[in-house]
Amino acid sequence: MFQNLQDKLDRAFKVLKGQGSITEINVAETMKEIRKALLDADVNYKTAKSFTDDVKQKALGENVLTSISPGQLLTKIMNDELTSLMGGTVTELEISKNPTVILIAGLNGAGKTTFSGKLANYLRENKGKKPLLVAGDVYRPAAIDQLQVLGGQVNVPVYVNRESTDPIAIAKEGVEEAKRNGNNVVIIDTAGRLAIDEALMTEIKAVKEATQPHEILFVVDAMTGQDAVNTAKAFNDRLDFTGVVLTKLDGDTRGGAALSIKSVVNKPIKFIGTGEKMEALDVFHPDRMASRILG
Ligand code: GDP
Repeated sequence: MFQNLQDKLDRAFKVLKGQGSITEINVAETMKEIRKALLDADVNYKTAKSFTDDVKQKALGENVLTSISPGQLLTKIMNDELTSLMGGTVTELEISKNPTVILIAGLNGAGKTTFSGKLANYLRENKGKKPLLVAGDVYRPAAIDQLQVLGGQVNVPVYVNRESTDPIAIAKEGVEEAKRNGNNVVIIDTAGRLAIDEALMTEIKAVKEATQPHEILFVVDAMTGQDAVNTAKAFNDRLDFTGVVLTKLDGDTRGGAALSIKSVVNKPIKFIGTGEKMEALDVFHPDRMASRILG
């Protein structure tokens, strides 16, 4: 994960590591390299600029107060700033209501159905919940089959209505079914599209109105870099979601989405997907991710 970014940051740090002290000149030079590394990792331009401006200011400000080496000081500042860029602390799911309704949104192929299964598994295994999955992707019968298979794998029931092509009605039926059967979490998988279009946005907004979810999780493929951030912005403008799920972080992703999303849409990343298996899900820890990026 993020190997390329790690290598480039490492190289940027070398400029300072050999120096006895931090000066305007060597910090400016290092920040130029760091900004380049971030842009190469597909971090949003504004985010990269304000990030390096902040790090520079802190480095020059703290320099006089400390006796640690420039390299160590910069590592510490970078670690703190990367952590805060990605949201600072863990943002827990709001799952106290009975039933808690969680709506899953995103484009086709982002990993919504896979994540729905993983989330059901996580809530059952780690949080002692009794979830119900709802198959709301009515346009792709294969998606309904896929959710049923995943539900079977993780031992969670799946509400399906193959007679209906109305995602709003199905979502509402799913919530009713949960109330009848004592399921305390309802996870509604929804239809995606290949790209953002009005019909998709109108439909998912209507599902939101009809089910009043406590959480709306926007699922996005981390491999898509800046596109992930743009898509997140478009969905958030219409849906006002509560959190982001970054998938496919096990792949050769450059890191731009993880680093930019929070500062662009101001919503926390709540989970990361790290594989196709049902167990390949992690709660997102900004501090752990920062340490990982710094190697
Ligand atoms: P949907 O169209 O948004 O419902 O996407 P799917 O859940 O069908 O996922 C699309 C593809 O991505 C499938 O082949 C999944 O197995 C794969 N996938 C989903 N999440 C991950 C992940 O975290 N890592 C990897 N490597 N593959 C994933």
